[in-house]
Amino acid sequence: MANDRYDTPKKKVSFEVRDLNNFVYDMSRCIKCKGCYWVEHTYMPGIKYTTRCPSGTWKEFDSYQAAGKLRIGLAVAEGKFDWSEKLLEVIYADPLCGACDVGCKRNLDLEIGLSLEALRIKAVKDGAGPMPAHKKIAKNIASKHNRFGSPHENREKWVTKDIKVAAKADVLYFAGCSASYTNNEIAQATGKILNASGTPFMVMKDEWCCGNVLYSVGMIDEAVETAKRNIEAVRASGAKILLTSCAECYRTWKVDYPKMLDIDTADLGFTVMHLLDFADKAIEDGRLKPAKKVDLRLTYHDACSVSRLSDAWRPWKGERGWMGTIEPRYKRRRGTEGLYAQPRNILGAIPGLTVVEMPRIRENAFCCGAGRGTKEAFPELARFAAGQRFEEVKEIGAEALVSACPFCKNNFSQTAKENGGEVKVMDIAEVIAASL
Ligand code: SF4
Ligand code: SF4
Repeated sequence: MANDRYDTPKKKVSFEVRDLNNFVYDMSRCIKCKGCYWVEHTYMPGIKYTTRCPSGTWKEFDSYQAAGKLRIGLAVAEGKFDWSEKLLEVIYADPLCGACDVGCKRNLDLEIGLSLEALRIKAVKDGAGPMPAHKKIAKNIASKHNRFGSPHENREKWVTKDIKVAAKADVLYFAGCSASYTNNEIAQATGKILNASGTPFMVMKDEWCCGNVLYSVGMIDEAVETAKRNIEAVRASGAKILLTSCAECYRTWKVDYPKMLDIDTADLGFTVMHLLDFADKAIEDGRLKPAKKVDLRLTYHDACSVSRLSDAWRPWKGERGWMGTIEPRYKRRRGTEGLYAQPRNILGAIPGLTVVEMPRIRENAFCCGAGRGTKEAFPELARFAAGQRFEEVKEIGAEALVSACPFCKNNFSQTAKENGGEVKVMDIAEVIAASL
């Protein structure tokens, strides 16, 4: 005799973020255990730095944590909630740092990060999102192909005479908007590192913004157009490796483009590589020799988009049955493929450096709060999150804070200035270049 409990009809489902209904199961099965908010005590030496969620720590209110946002997302999917100014603030005052996603997945197979992304796509589809600051960025990208609205013809000005760029090479360096306009020092240091390692590289003939903010704020139609255009440009160049020095560009190319186009990262037709991975390999095989002493006591900040957010994208569609089991089986993205060892190997190979670790590192690192459109729309949240990180920096007595993302660098630099400028803020490309 059939038992109803075991005969639950199977439901077709996928991880397609354009449809919030795909995540109703995930949003409704949140058990409010707060593993997305607290760092497990087994990883922490004390009780001082125990939260992992910048927006939840900022407001100290459930709605701003993943658990609250999932409940809100469920109500939106069920048509029980109308968009309001407050609701938009709750879902956009959030750097989508992924700490909740990996925290939750230590115990459960719930797609928290994808649910939050799908909620923003729904907000835009319903005509409510994104925030005015995001619309301005989108306008800049549409008219000038960069998020600042700077003249497009200035994009390659970072290439100085001492940097050798090849007309044709296997490696294509994608500088991104920040390194092209506001952080030339990162692009120039990257160029010098590539030259020093004897690796010929080319730059994109007509580089456009990667569209990170477009996707992050839910403007998926615009983001898809950007993805198609950029992928086509790399394929046409014949490059085998798309190299970037920006964490946000890295995640966008490696994860969000395949996600939007419903393909596997492995099927892009080229490898997406961050400078961290390149430099680590080049030091290991002897192409790069950091011989010059850099006398500095520094700490490394794991930028979200080169760490827990950077697992390769693997599309999935199938069926969900009793107890939420899915078929076919899926290798969940738990943030374990991030670039955690590479920066530490690199810094360990540079003579003179003393590397000290903050309490929250690797998957548990506390986001700087700037990325994915947050600093532009909610600067006070970005300032708060960076301030939290600086407490850790002071606690361990580091002279410098180093990251691998211009969004982190700029946000931390602002906080450093406000704190009296005692802590130096650098990108890892600058540290490597200083050792050559
Ligand atoms: S999102 Fe996951 S970790 Fe957070 S409260 Fe819900 S079930 Fe727990
Ligand atoms: S993505 Fe980060 S800031 Fe947003 S809810 Fe999750 S942990 Fe908090």
